[in-house]
Amino acid sequence: MMGADQREWTGPVTTRMRCCICGDDTEGADNYIVLALSAAPSDAIQYLGAHADHFNRALAPGFHLDATE
Ligand SMILES: [Zn+2]
Repeated sequence: MMGADQREWTGPVTTRMRCCICGDDTEGADNYIVLALSAAPSDAIQYLGAHADHFNRALAPGFHLDATE
């Protein structure tokens, strides 16, 4: 249960990141996602924030992100 603070979900980082697609602030956005990118053999993880709608638009036809929670 995340309660009323659900809109402030920031994912694995402490603050919301700007949308990596449109560059706008994601503060208060209903459909905010965090992408975690890694590249072997490094253990480093790059996090990117995005509006879910914008991310879906950037995906190739046939791919779609479904938020599960
Ligand atoms: Zn965006």
